[in-house]
Amino acid sequence: MTEKKKTLEVKNLKKHFPIKNGKVVRAVDGVDLEIYEGETLGLVGESGSGKSTIAYMIVGMYKASDGSIIYNGEDLTKRGIKRTKEQKGNIQIVFQDPSSALNPRRKIKKSLEFTLKLHGEVDKGNLGEKAEDLLEMVGLPREFGENYPRSIGGGERQLASVARAMAANPSLLILDEPTSALDVSVQAKVIRKLTELQKERNLSYLFITHDLSLMRNIATRVAILYLGKVCELAPAEDFFEKPLHPYTQMLLSSIPVATDEEELLRPEKVVSTGEIPSPVDIPPGCAFHMRCPDRMDICSKELPQMTEVKKGHSVCCHKYCVQKTAAEAQEEEKEVSSDEK
Ligand code: SF4
Repeated sequence: MTEKKKTLEVKNLKKHFPIKNGKVVRAVDGVDLEIYEGETLGLVGESGSGKSTIAYMIVGMYKASDGSIIYNGEDLTKRGIKRTKEQKGNIQIVFQDPSSALNPRRKIKKSLEFTLKLHGEVDKGNLGEKAEDLLEMVGLPREFGENYPRSIGGGERQLASVARAMAANPSLLILDEPTSALDVSVQAKVIRKLTELQKERNLSYLFITHDLSLMRNIATRVAILYLGKVCELAPAEDFFEKPLHPYTQMLLSSIPVATDEEELLRPEKVVSTGEIPSPVDIPPGCAFHMRCPDRMDICSKELPQMTEVKKGHSVCCHKYCVQKTAAEAQEEEKEVSSDEK
């Protein structure tokens, strides 16, 4: 079997924001992730979980407090936020609000030409034609470039901002809630186009959302974030069929379902108690213990470690750390008894 090629690897990534009185907001607190060529890694979490902060560090808008972001064998954190033109082009971001990426005073075509010029992708004489090719690539008419961003609909504006990102010829697109501000019918159009683009160009996506129903349809693997840490990471099928972390089960038990099949897969309703702790004052042990229906004594004392319970499916919960220890102990016992024979 051929090995999957890694597009990006994030190791022990942290972003701590100092605030008043010597306190610190631990927005991202030791995240490990890998994104493979041609796949969509879904990053899910409630607001304040740190998902956008991870995106901004990967794309170079925020400097990481610690850890590494490895692209093409090179650690991008070594350069702070001063990346080369090529490094900036390789990883592009599409924001929830497309106005952040398109200059309201420039016609769309001019914005695309500007990005093409910036990344040196085409000769000056071909800029106009290439900008129109980009519009066509995302399913917009070539003449659409003569519009200003404010004079077109939200879905078209978002597709134009995807075209702007593609002007830099990236291999990784970070999609930060790209459809959450759009009507449902328009969302489907944007998602369809993103899926087509990925297939045509073997792009890798980091898709950030709080919408698990959407994730079910587009993700190859899913990572769940809680207070700056990944608490479960699994192939999408496993994630929706056999969620392990109590927090994942809680989120999945409360999403609306459209079909009988989805209803069968939905975990029993998990009711959480307590409030989400402040990221300035994260409790000791498992950060979810104050809300967890399965908490044990150890949970408020010791930090659980990420444990791979099955190939590609990891969970950060004492329930599974204990299981692994038991399995390891059994394995060790077997080894000892075979040595003794
Ligand atoms: Fe719940 Fe304990 Fe697992 Fe945290 S470690 S999710 S508190 S069982």
